[in-house]
Amino acid sequence: SVRVRFAPSPTGMFHVGGARSALFNWAVAKHAGGTFVLRIEDTDAARNKPEWVDGILSAMASLGMHAEDPTFEGPYFQSKNVALHTEAAATLYAQGNAYYCDCTRDDVAARTGNAQTGYDGFCRDRGLTYEPGRALRFRTPDDGETAVVDLIRGNPTFPNAAMEDFVVARGDGSPVFLLANVVDDMDEHVSHVIRGEEHLPNTPKQQLLWEALGQTPPTWAHLPVIVNEKRQKLSKRRDKVALEDYLADGILPDAMVNYLMLLGWAPGNNEEILPFETLVERFDIADVNSSSAFFDVKKLTAFNGEYIRALPLAEFKAAVDPWLHAPRAPWTPEQFDAAAFDAVAPLAQTRVATLSEITANVDFLFLDEPVEDEQSWNRAMKEPAAALLADARAALATLEPWEAEPLKDLVTAVGEQHGLKLGKAQAPVRVAVTGRTIGLPLFESLQVLGREKVLARVDAAIA
Ligand code: GLU
Repeated sequence: SVRVRFAPSPTGMFHVGGARSALFNWAVAKHAGGTFVLRIEDTDAARNKPEWVDGILSAMASLGMHAEDPTFEGPYFQSKNVALHTEAAATLYAQGNAYYCDCTRDDVAARTGNAQTGYDGFCRDRGLTYEPGRALRFRTPDDGETAVVDLIRGNPTFPNAAMEDFVVARGDGSPVFLLANVVDDMDEHVSHVIRGEEHLPNTPKQQLLWEALGQTPPTWAHLPVIVNEKRQKLSKRRDKVALEDYLADGILPDAMVNYLMLLGWAPGNNEEILPFETLVERFDIADVNSSSAFFDVKKLTAFNGEYIRALPLAEFKAAVDPWLHAPRAPWTPEQFDAAAFDAVAPLAQTRVATLSEITANVDFLFLDEPVEDEQSWNRAMKEPAAALLADARAALATLEPWEAEPLKDLVTAVGEQHGLKLGKAQAPVRVAVTGRTIGLPLFESLQVLGREKVLARVDAAIA
């Protein structure tokens, strides 16, 4: 049966690249009716923190991968399996697949004259036994090659002569990550190892370990690297990579999942926006591309806008609710007017690409004075804006009824008096009332804001 795993190290915020790996594994498991194992690789005590583990679990859950789902198994913790890793190291030694070595880095460099070449095999046949300080090295084959089955990369082969006798246990007896990772995969009966391309150089070594420990190696698949717009590998120092940050900005989890599934894969038929179930039905890891995948924030945002527009109104309102209140909202609870928000919510839903954009679209309804964007102001308030606003002000004072249609007719008529088309004529009105040149449809906005506030703001603008 298909058993895949996602094996993150809890060393920082959960990364969009990690989320992509998790989702591809999840899709493979779901597609095949198999199992997805979550394994937390937490043996590097100096770099791991329990809060990062919680961060991984909650971020995965927000994307739909959680322990209540029958496909999900775990989480297992690598640190709980150290006895098994140590036993595997002992087996490799007992079978003659590994030997102890007391060479220092300097010893090797002095013999080979080059600090860059790998280990020279000096201790291979010295028959050393364990003593503190002696590392255990795996005896790699001298010739031939190691061929791995990689569903994405067309079965790369690695010449064994180029593979040094690598360390499997350190001088203090502790097994290294490379071995622990293999032993855990065996213990969890993993059939497919699907992970980032950066692990490919380890793969022939790991395959040799599987074979030496008497088991059939898994099928491998190394996912393409994710790059930014400069084609640089996405990095937490340079790029916004934390999943949490995208969600905090108002990217919907469903949009994120859909977008991440397209990093290296396409569902076909020129379709991109599809429900996760459909993506799972179509997903085949063998169809993943090996060339790097561009993490296009603009495209993600555009996807998100489509997902937002597809929400039922009630769900849209629930989704933006956190942005309507402290600490995210720039207005106080007293200033917030739920009825006014309800009146513009359907208009706002068609205009925001991320949930966080809601505040700038509706703040004019709640703040005492509009947020004045200086550039908008300068652009909109050119001649004949002042005269136009004065005339509009006089007409607005007595307009009946105070509704979008008559408001539009009024601004159209005043614009004509000043030789302006509606598009140009409404700009100063919009900036006077909302502070910005772009926003919700103007006449509905004026209707909801009410005559009193509209007049006050127009007065303030021409004063
Ligand atoms: N813990 C490793 C990482 O975070 C994963 C190794 C693997 O998937 O085999 O990169």
